[in-house]
Amino acid sequence: MRIVILGAGYAGLRTALDLARLRRTYGLEITIHVVDQHPYHQLIQLLHLTATAGITDQKSIYQLDKLFQGREVERIEGRVQTILPLERRVVLADGRSVEYDRLVIALGSETAFQVPGAREHALPLRTFPDAVALRKHLIRKFSQAATLTDPTELRIAMTTAIVGGGYTGCELAGELAAWADDLCRQTGAPRNEVRIALIEREDHLLPHLGTWASNEAVRRLERLGVNIFLRTPVVRVEPQLLRFADGRILRAGTIVWGAGIRAPALLAEAGFPTDRMGRVLVDRYLRVSGQAAVFAIGDCAAVPDGRGGTLPPTASYAVRQGEHLAEILAAEARGDAPRAYEPVELGEVVSLGPNDAVGNALGVPVTGYPALMLKRGIEEYYRATIESA
Ligand SMILES: Cc1cc2nc3c(=O)[nH]c(=O)nc-3n(C[C@H](O)[C@H](O)[C@H](O)COP(=O)(O)OP(=O)(O)OC[C@H]3O[C@@H](n4cnc5c(N)ncnc54)[C@H](O)[C@@H]3O)c2cc1C
Repeated sequence: MRIVILGAGYAGLRTALDLARLRRTYGLEITIHVVDQHPYHQLIQLLHLTATAGITDQKSIYQLDKLFQGREVERIEGRVQTILPLERRVVLADGRSVEYDRLVIALGSETAFQVPGAREHALPLRTFPDAVALRKHLIRKFSQAATLTDPTELRIAMTTAIVGGGYTGCELAGELAAWADDLCRQTGAPRNEVRIALIEREDHLLPHLGTWASNEAVRRLERLGVNIFLRTPVVRVEPQLLRFADGRILRAGTIVWGAGIRAPALLAEAGFPTDRMGRVLVDRYLRVSGQAAVFAIGDCAAVPDGRGGTLPPTASYAVRQGEHLAEILAAEARGDAPRAYEPVELGEVVSLGPNDAVGNALGVPVTGYPALMLKRGIEEYYRATIESA
């Protein structure tokens, strides 16, 4: 059986590594092929650190060839363009065709630039190249600022506006507030002119974590010097300028768009049933509704939460779905009945700069040093599991 996995992110990589292990354990007659547009696995949940020099580029990615070494997983580098479920094949942007017996879709999500001008004038933070580009942009802006004498130009160059108060926005704002000291020292930009604005349409940050965590995040980010604008919808982005619904404007030399994600359009184009975020609808066996040979996991899948809704797009769910899907595929290859996926809510922790974090662990609220240690522990554990799979 030829199993093709689209995407080597948190979900797809986990499926590939676990499936390779289960193949050894049970002597399964399967081949594993992983398609990704990049030759590396990106640690997307650490991109705010990559963008602010909090970790090196070498620690932000893992070369897939190294992870797959000795595991008999074929890596196919290419951009998936079309999925043809009736023909059981996938077409890549360069015209190559990849055939499958079972297909795992783990293509993650993309930035949803919902307002006019956002795509053209704001920077996204969804990929490793995005993070490197943002870091270079910030260094350029601060270096320029060091040479400016006009107070308005200086103010604009030194202002960073981050749109969206989810993981991306909060983690980036906290990290940037901390990096600003070093950045000003390196570039000669005036530290007292640094302005970081975090802008959120709703009346709270971090919607998945509830009111308590949201209030803590506001308090702790403000303490770092971040200006938080709640209930402030952005309606338009222009060069170095944000327009808000109430008519106000904000001029900023750096605008980061972290407000909203959507699944790749190619999934709906393939004819799969999707939700309003473009995520593929799957059943409790992570199988795409109405498709015998296609599965979807991670950010690009609308996975039932068992309470009538769907799970949020997080790395922790993506990894656990990847793990579970490897077991389902192995059970199928052995001729056994697969076990349904039962989501377990372990909690989430969001960093707020290098010295603080907020979240919940198994439903228990955590903040400050214990939360930070938990977050680092989760990250180190993740690294260990992919390095030693
Ligand atoms: C800054 C930031 C901070 C975050 N912090 C946290 C956090 O603290 N905790 C948490 O749980 N979650 C966090 N998240 C969310 C988390 O990163 C995602 O939920 C997770 O990456 C989803 O995993 P995935 O495998 O579904 O997709 P991804 O990890 O995005 O992997 C998708 C893969 O598919 C590949 N791909 C996409 N399209 C194509 C194509 N057309 N052709 C070929 N390859 C393609 C990509 O290159 C990528 O390798 C954060 C996200 C961001 C941006």
